Amino acid sequence: MYWYWDSTILILIPALIIGLIAQAMVKSAYSKYSKVYNDRGMTGYDAARRILDENGLFNVAIERVSGELTDHYDPQSNVIRLSDGVYNQTSVAAVGVAAHEAGHAVQYAQGYFPIKIRSAIIPITQLGSSLAVPLVLIGLAFSSLDVLITVGILLYCAVVLFQVITLPVEFDASSRAITILRSSGYLSDKELSGAKRVLTAAALTYVAAVISSMLSLLRLLLLSNRRRR
Ligand SMILES: [Zn+2]
Repeated sequence: MYWYWDSTILILIPALIIGLIAQAMVKSAYSKYSKVYNDRGMTGYDAARRILDENGLFNVAIERVSGELTDHYDPQSNVIRLSDGVYNQTSVAAVGVAAHEAGHAVQYAQGYFPIKIRSAIIPITQLGSSLAVPLVLIGLAFSSLDVLITVGILLYCAVVLFQVITLPVEFDASSRAITILRSSGYLSDKELSGAKRVLTAAALTYVAAVISSMLSLLRLLLLSNRRRR
């Protein structure tokens, strides 16, 4: 597959750099505010449980998951999974991250439109992220299989769409988290600004993912154009 190593791959370098910078910013904000403990001694679990209960979401379970920053809400099983550094930790970062995940559960329960589209296109996105590039490359290698280039590019468009729709979903979950944490008084103003920094840095990784997927799409388009000439 010598096509894979052509010059268009250089387009992906800025994407890689932006992704690495965003990751580094999250890690640094997270490690800083993981060491700042909130005055109330509230754990990530406590914060998520209270926010869920206040919204009537008694049916949403909270489980523990291994790893760092692996926290997520799983709409299929309606479970929030909190990582070791969040679940029973009383840091400002832990409460911020847990409130963000609870925000996703609230979005889902309230039928927040972007999260519904996002869930609906997950299967085609998974297909796109694994098959799009191989399909385009096969299409480029065999002139009789030209149609695969178009199919691959369309599949990759679904990946880009998914990343774009993820932005409002993530920004909204964080703004819900901050609003709740402020109005409930779970965190003081100073603690709140720390939680905000962690969530803002996390949001940047999603912006980086959008840029990266758009550059990958551009690369596929350039490859297909080269073929047509
Ligand atoms: Zn999120």
